[in-house]
Amino acid sequence: MIIVSSITKLRELHRDLKGSVGFVPTMGALHDGHLSLMAEAKKHTDTLIVSIFVNPTQFGPNEDLDTYPRDTEGDSNKCKLAGCDILFMPSVSEIYDVNAKTEVRVSSLTTNLCGATRPGHFDGVTTIVSKLFNIVQPDVAVFGKKDYQQLAVLRRMVKDLNFPIEIIGAPTIRESDGLAKSSRNLKLTPQYRKSAVALSQGLVKSHTVFQAGERSGAVLEKTVREHIEAAGLVPDYISCVEPDTLETYDGGERALIAIAIFAGDVRLIDNIELHEPSSI
Ligand code: AMP
Repeated sequence: MIIVSSITKLRELHRDLKGSVGFVPTMGALHDGHLSLMAEAKKHTDTLIVSIFVNPTQFGPNEDLDTYPRDTEGDSNKCKLAGCDILFMPSVSEIYDVNAKTEVRVSSLTTNLCGATRPGHFDGVTTIVSKLFNIVQPDVAVFGKKDYQQLAVLRRMVKDLNFPIEIIGAPTIRESDGLAKSSRNLKLTPQYRKSAVALSQGLVKSHTVFQAGERSGAVLEKTVREHIEAAGLVPDYISCVEPDTLETYDGGERALIAIAIFAGDVRLIDNIELHEPSSI
């Protein structure tokens, strides 16, 4: 595995590559969820490029940029074991010119769910992913369904801007008790780590209610909310939406419940696709 931090060097390496390139962008503190994306990318391509970049522009002023977990050495070992060929770990100054004036913004899909409570977050995501796509020039890029809205927004961006890149959405990898793996889980106190299991439990409960025939978004949301609040977690949002457009659920045979909660200071997200059979 070659580790590079310079865009010029990465482009030089790219010129010599044969076959197709798979790409997995991450913010590091790698876990099995990230590794599953790498395995998926390797199934479809000849060379795997992974990036680790904690992107400052997708964090709000009161968010956890400064305390976001970082583990450069552990991460590079994991990438090597996962069969990564090139690990791209640029600095902030390598990525962002101080005089930059250009942003990539996807409208409407970014206004609800995380977009409503994290203003500017998706502009940061679409801008950095566009830049990384231009730098890495992959044929295939893999993203997790755990960040369901992000995946939907990036699929839209790739279509709208004609990036010649296939986007693959990969399933959410979970801890044995059901909590979705996340770099932010490292920041949970032992007590909140225990109660955080209520996220996936609440979602599974809503799926049971859905399977029993419930088609009211409000009732499905209430099922999750009650479970989460009973565990002492504070919902940021709990929304039942159409899985493709992310608009308010209209009572059909497929739905998505997306949630964000605060466990103390730590914000966690999760979601479940409601259809039969269960996807969690
Ligand atoms: P992050 O490092 O949090 O920016 O995530 C990088 C990529 O890993 C994104 O595409 C995430 O959706 C994906 N990811 C994060 N957690 C998981 C998980 N538990 N299962 C599958 N993919 C994940």
